[in-house]
Amino acid sequence: MNDEVLNKAIKKYGETHQILVAIEEMQELSKELLKYANRGANNRDEIIKELADCYITLQQIRIIFDFNGIFTNEAIYNKLKRLEKRMNEEKK
Ligand SMILES: [Mg+2]
Repeated sequence: MNDEVLNKAIKKYGETHQILVAIEEMQELSKELLKYANRGANNRDEIIKELADCYITLQQIRIIFDFNGIFTNEAIYNKLKRLEKRMNEEKK
């Protein structure tokens, strides 16, 4: 992802605004996923668009909070290890 464009957006619209946009985008993705899960909606195109919006705005959150490199990788790694451990325990 090109951080240059993301940094320009943060500078132009402000950190607080971009945090609120990220929250809105997560709500929009939640809404589309709920339509799919609850009603079996045929909304694959909408889901991918909202997923893209979330990805872009969450990358701005990473920049705003300076969660770069090892921190995010480590946080994701730890969460995946925890998920794997939980699934292995459920097998028993
Ligand atoms: Mg959206």
